[in-house]
Amino acid sequence: MHLVIIGNGITGVTCALTVRRLQPAARITLVSAESAHHFSRPALMYVYLGHLRYQDIKPYEDWFWQENRLELVQAAATGLDAARQTVQLSTGAVLAYDKLLLATGSVGRRGTWPGHDLAGVQTFVTLPDLEQMTRDTHGIRQAVVVGGGLIGVELAEMLAAKGVAVTMLVRDDRYWGSVLPPEEAALIQRQLDDHHITVRYRTELQALLPDAHGRVRAVQTTAGEELPAQWVGLAVGVVPNLALARAGGLETDQGILVDELLQTSQPHVYAAGDCAQQRAPGPGEVAVEQLWYTGRHQGETVGHTLAGQPRPYRRGLWFNSAKFFDLEYQTYGRVPARPDAREHSFCWQHPNGRHLLRLNFRRDSLAVTGLNVLGLRHRHDTWHQWLQAGTPAPQVLANLGAANFDPEFFRQHEADIVRQFNAQFPEHAVPRPRRRGLFRV
Ligand SMILES: Cc1cc2nc3c(=O)[nH]c(=O)nc-3n(C[C@H](O)[C@H](O)[C@H](O)COP(=O)(O)OP(=O)(O)OC[C@H]3O[C@@H](n4cnc5c(N)ncnc54)[C@H](O)[C@@H]3O)c2cc1C
Repeated sequence: MHLVIIGNGITGVTCALTVRRLQPAARITLVSAESAHHFSRPALMYVYLGHLRYQDIKPYEDWFWQENRLELVQAAATGLDAARQTVQLSTGAVLAYDKLLLATGSVGRRGTWPGHDLAGVQTFVTLPDLEQMTRDTHGIRQAVVVGGGLIGVELAEMLAAKGVAVTMLVRDDRYWGSVLPPEEAALIQRQLDDHHITVRYRTELQALLPDAHGRVRAVQTTAGEELPAQWVGLAVGVVPNLALARAGGLETDQGILVDELLQTSQPHVYAAGDCAQQRAPGPGEVAVEQLWYTGRHQGETVGHTLAGQPRPYRRGLWFNSAKFFDLEYQTYGRVPARPDAREHSFCWQHPNGRHLLRLNFRRDSLAVTGLNVLGLRHRHDTWHQWLQAGTPAPQVLANLGAANFDPEFFRQHEADIVRQFNAQFPEHAVPRPRRRGLFRV
């Protein structure tokens, strides 16, 4: 069997390694235009900051691929003939496949604002984006970041670390207002304030204004302001990269449409990771998932199917983590930005504004439904078990120390959290927290 994988991101590489393990004799070719070897996309910012070098964000040594008989081709796949089972490459070569996986990832949304194609205006998704940003932000004084999601705050952090004065334009009335409840957004706002990032809420980009050399010199906002900027980062989201799928006549919508085995509309052609869209997502699941963890999970799942062990993709428990400057964030289960009438939402905050725990639980059964923690680290497996089992909130709080990731290095807040919970919900009062490590589900 010759498996051809387009894209050497986390999805493509996880699939390749899974198939290699399950089918030692398979021929596997990984094609990618962006880089010769796989690297960690979420770590790109640390290369810009100078904390890591490019070779440090490659999880595998360069000899690894040959040793595992994974053929690497650095080229763009420009055409797909599903009837003949071939892929055309930018080098002129044609690759024949028995099975094909499209793991083509996402592309940054650029928008259509006047001036969006000026020099000094860019997205931040790829290795060339990193190189361009490094070059174009060298020695500048002011920058504007458009968009207030995870990549927006990342860009602000990167620029601020280089001494650039940053203004963020955010459409919502608070940071990441479509995802985070107000208390969480306020903690992140504090980080932005501490790092002297100016944020214009309820404000969008109107136009990008050029200087005499065709480079951006300022942005005009919908609030009528003109903000000087020698560089503008567009962080208004990413969209699935559909170019090859469309060239091959595959059915697409927002993403490449796949069934639960991650198979596309064409026989022997699969799609996974950022570029894929589930035709029938399960209850509470989203059709297009653009996360590192889900890319890895989908890559592993489709790897089993491609190796002859069909495995349907199930998203399972929602989990995500990120870092906002110095503040770590984890979320498990479902924590909507606005309260759900069927649930209580208990929110504890440390008076220093640097630690927060939110616990959502059902009003009827008291079963926990979601957790947000900021400035605290919790254990994935413990929360997975609690949420899967629908453990009642008082029982979770009585055992909260068991979820604390590295208690020996961090101050303990469990007693204070329980005290506040008991004051707010006396009818569900929790006994004093048990000692750490005694938890049993
Ligand atoms: C700056 C940044 C920070 C992020 N931080 C986080 C984070 O902290 N946590 C998190 O969960 N997620 C994060 N993400 C998202 C995460 O990186 C993606 O979800 C993940 O990389 C998707 O993996 P993938 O393998 O599906 O696609 P990608 O990593 O996008 O890889 C796809 C590859 O396919 C190549 N390709 C596409 N088309 C072709 C073609 N026709 N021919 C040849 N090659 C092609 C592309 O060039 C690319 O190299 C971040 C993303 C960015 C941009």
